[in-house]
Amino acid sequence: MMTALLTQYSDVNIIETDDFLAQLPALVCAGNILLVTSKGFTKRGVIGQFIESFGGGFNNNRVRVFDDVTPNPEKTFLENSYSTFADENILTIIALGGGSVIDTAKVFAAMLSYKKLSLEQLLTRKDITCQVNLIAVPTTSGTGAEVTPFATVWESESNSKHSLYGIRPRTAILDPNLTLTLPYSETLYPALDALSHGFESLWNKSKTQLSQEAAISAIELICEALPEVEQDLTDVRARKKLQCAATLAGLAISTTKTAIAHAISYPLTSKYAVPHGLACSFSLLAIIDIVGQKKLDLPSSLFSKVSKLLQRVNFTKQLSPFIKWSEVQDLSKLNFDQSRTGNFIVPVDRALITKILLQSQKLAEVE
Ligand SMILES: [Zn+2]
Repeated sequence: MMTALLTQYSDVNIIETDDFLAQLPALVCAGNILLVTSKGFTKRGVIGQFIESFGGGFNNNRVRVFDDVTPNPEKTFLENSYSTFADENILTIIALGGGSVIDTAKVFAAMLSYKKLSLEQLLTRKDITCQVNLIAVPTTSGTGAEVTPFATVWESESNSKHSLYGIRPRTAILDPNLTLTLPYSETLYPALDALSHGFESLWNKSKTQLSQEAAISAIELICEALPEVEQDLTDVRARKKLQCAATLAGLAISTTKTAIAHAISYPLTSKYAVPHGLACSFSLLAIIDIVGQKKLDLPSSLFSKVSKLLQRVNFTKQLSPFIKWSEVQDLSKLNFDQSRTGNFIVPVDRALITKILLQSQKLAEVE
């Protein structure tokens, strides 16, 4: 057990293992199983092994595989996909993949739980709970979706996004072996997302003692493990730390929700296709500057590690394929998601956003 906080904190049954397939048969319930995953896993033969793991007494017709998940899942696509299995007696959903896979599975879980409601209606409800057995097996270490009760649904035509609230996995299976083949960029961006979740819950009006502890532990683990993974992508101990950090940060934002850095990130992702982890982390150092380390209760040794880590990212270089700094500065003219900015401990107005964006550029340019 990496940290006692994982279980102490969570309503989700968190299983740490080095063989996720061996855990699954005991966790599924009667009825059919929907496996939500991405094409890569089907190709790599994992799905074949998965279906075999239900051999011996199980009828393989019970398992339906949905591997059409796309990054940033779209509302219409989710609705159409759901209609293809709505009437099959699915009582367990297993999500094997990154944040978009788990978000897709959460949307399906919501729709199967409330068959009489449309997705449109579900997105406006704040009182829904998951009625199917949802098991999340994350294959990236970042979003924390394996423990959070939220999912993001995108509508790219209108440049908008919606949050589904209330669907939390019953079980999260953490197997670091699933992350060993991720290239460094697919490790870095999710780790930056998790780091950002840690900070978003620290400068948050709703923070608690426990969310603070989880966030600080997550930040510490990322500062320690990310350079180790950069050295050796197959370092399973370091991979495990990153996985644990992402889950801890996910638990922290389950309490507090995200704040200003995520509000700023959304237009970067929807208008300029900046990967989420980059979009929500390029402003972190500037925001730390503005809030002040003292207010964050951030030990100064940890602050220097964070600042070293973020400076090494080189945001100017990382952002340049997607957006110019001048376009980043123009974002201050937009209206930001108030359900996020409202969580920030400092009142947010246009002047503050301008200050954060200018300071982000300044700090990135000295890197
Ligand atoms: Zn995020």
